[in-house]
Amino acid sequence: MPNSHHTDVLIIGAGLSGLSAANDLKQAGLKVLVIDKGRGLGGRLAGRRIGDATFDHGAQFFTARESRFKAAVECWIEAGVAEQWYSSYPGHPNGHPRYRGVPTMTAVAKYLATDIDVMRATKVLSIDDHQGHTWLVSLDNGDTVIAQKLLITSPVPQTLELLATSNIAVPQDKQIRLGRIQYEACIAVMAVLDGPANIESPGAIALDDGPIAWISDNLQKGVSKVSAITIHGAGDFSAEHFDNDRMEVGQQLIDAAGSYLGDTKVVEYQVHGWRYSKPRVTDDSPCLVLSENTEMAPLVLAGDAFAGPRFEGAVQSGWAAAKALINVN
Ligand SMILES: Cc1cc2nc3c(=O)[nH]c(=O)nc-3n(C[C@H](O)[C@H](O)[C@H](O)COP(=O)(O)OP(=O)(O)OC[C@H]3O[C@@H](n4cnc5c(N)ncnc54)[C@H](O)[C@@H]3O)c2cc1C
Repeated sequence: MPNSHHTDVLIIGAGLSGLSAANDLKQAGLKVLVIDKGRGLGGRLAGRRIGDATFDHGAQFFTARESRFKAAVECWIEAGVAEQWYSSYPGHPNGHPRYRGVPTMTAVAKYLATDIDVMRATKVLSIDDHQGHTWLVSLDNGDTVIAQKLLITSPVPQTLELLATSNIAVPQDKQIRLGRIQYEACIAVMAVLDGPANIESPGAIALDDGPIAWISDNLQKGVSKVSAITIHGAGDFSAEHFDNDRMEVGQQLIDAAGSYLGDTKVVEYQVHGWRYSKPRVTDDSPCLVLSENTEMAPLVLAGDAFAGPRFEGAVQSGWAAAKALINVN
């Protein structure tokens, strides 16, 4: 029997932006429901296990630049869900410390979701502007949600698809802005090794040329109990090979990573394709109030395509969206 849920604010996406917004909205006294099609929390902060091996296969680390975000990182460290991983790796000195989630990147999302009502493994199929007052949202489990205000945090191409399917007219100036946003693809390989990888401390390699953008050693990082590396294909390579046989592309990346494997052998590997990994062209505003100057019920878009193409940007965008939703009627 389908259920009808009622909430002040419905948030599509339990990634960093959605969960960060949810906490601020709840703090402001609003009833919030978050819905995510994924089984886990955190969106692109993804982790996976293969036997005894554990991998971060989405975001690898985060930096902290702005004061409120730095304070949040301190809270996460105190709560035991984050720690500094390193401040620079060989050949790439950099002033921004790199933090990681503990035990994996998803720990931060789980922490942010502690007091939030999240419906997982549930996809939003369509949204309907109900007489300009409320949103009527249809879910793939047959349930519906009636919400006063709506926040969408999916990658922008997916958001545009949802709006088009739902026949929501996007004002032309905003359509143009949203159409400019672009993401890099990333093919991620998770490989279990039979011995230690040939990667110097702190266990991270960023490469500027060739098919590989990044390799991390999940054992040195403290994520995995056994030797296990994550390889991220470079944006151009990943886009070019995105629709090819995944295991073959994975093998190509493993072959290209040969010198970092040393004498070890790959025991087993899995491959994941991120069609929208990191934005390469972002919008200038920290979030977008789509309903502004329209007859629509309040609708805001947020995510890393707005406040900066990374972990911190997603959180900042969530906070900006919460502020906009609190102020908009
Ligand atoms: C391979 C990779 C490497 C990265 N490396 C780094 C890094 O090292 N450092 C860094 O700072 N950042 C990195 N990033 C970027 C970082 O992960 C993102 O900026 C950030 O996680 C984005 O958060 P978000 O909330 O904007 O979006 P997301 O995490 O994508 O959250 C959106 C959520 O919406 C859900 N959703 C979408 N459509 C629907 C629907 N119709 N119904 C229900 N739910 C829906 C999705 O399941 C998803 O969980 C990396 C990303 C990837 C993929």
